[in-house]
Amino acid sequence: MVRRSSSPNRVSAPTPSPQPLSPDVVVLGGLNLDIVVQVPALPRPGETVAGGSLAMHPGGKGANQAVAAARLGAGTAMIGRVGADDFGRQLRAALDAAGVSTVAVQDDPSEPTGVALIAVEPSGQNSIVVAPGANLRVSPDDVVAAGRLFESARVCLMPLEVPLDTIAAAAERAQAAGCKVILNAAPATELPSELLTTIDLLVANEVEAATLLHTRLPAKPDDAALALLALGARGAILTLGERGLWLAQAGRLDYVPAFPVRAVDTTAAGDAFLGGLAAAHVRGTELAEACRYGAAAAALAVTRPGAQPSLPAAVEVEALLGQQANG
Ligand code: ADP
Repeated sequence: MVRRSSSPNRVSAPTPSPQPLSPDVVVLGGLNLDIVVQVPALPRPGETVAGGSLAMHPGGKGANQAVAAARLGAGTAMIGRVGADDFGRQLRAALDAAGVSTVAVQDDPSEPTGVALIAVEPSGQNSIVVAPGANLRVSPDDVVAAGRLFESARVCLMPLEVPLDTIAAAAERAQAAGCKVILNAAPATELPSELLTTIDLLVANEVEAATLLHTRLPAKPDDAALALLALGARGAILTLGERGLWLAQAGRLDYVPAFPVRAVDTTAAGDAFLGGLAAAHVRGTELAEACRYGAAAAALAVTRPGAQPSLPAAVEVEALLGQQANG
């Protein structure tokens, strides 16, 4: 559990955040406000389409993963940046409400809060434009400033939404503190081998794996998982949506099937999986079993609409795992 500091909360703070000194999981990543419009069909270049009403939700892979881990019982702290604006205050409040520490989320004085503009067709097909704003200002100095969070943490979870030199600094800081580094290769980007060789676990979906491996979508996913491992991390996971995932470690290859559910919205499946994987792993669960826990969390998330609102609680994941064991 997150322990609070003994210093009193500042009465002047508009949204007081928990002040954990000892998280189990540290997430370095993006915070975005998702601005979503339903459209009859995605606009072609130069076209204007009339959409439905506007919906705004807290998002960003980093923030989603932090909320997922916290809901599943892990003391979680986020490192990131928002703008000194109303969107930033909303995102900070959403993390606070989920019990994620925002002690290392800074207000950036020069860039606005990150925003994702999302258009969604009735088929579920979407098109997304991200204005990263303050997320691109997260610096290696922010990692130094948040250094003490790594002392207690057992897992550091990082998607690729902040600059790579910051991710490299966090990987180094985490390793020095004996904290396992899980790198989520999302959004799809090529990665330098110096970074890959410093991480414990690389997690990629099929599109991200194709980018990392410079190939088309892999035909044989078990071979692709081994090819990801060969990039230099100590372990690699290839996720395949409803077809489950492969976990490759030195001398060992495991297949973890997806839980059969009726999916209504697959947004944040990967984030739910990563949060679940991290939460289980910090409790000492061995990696293949932690993947099963993450897969159960993701299966529940896809049965509900939205990103953060769809993320399940530990009791729900345990019930699903129990049903499987008994069925
Ligand atoms: P991402 O959201 O990053 O693209 P995936 O779609 O590969 O990631 O999903 C990650 C994991 O979530 C999968 O390995 C699987 O365990 C689970 N998952 C995703 N989609 C479904 C689904 N339709 N039904 C059940 N589980 C799913």
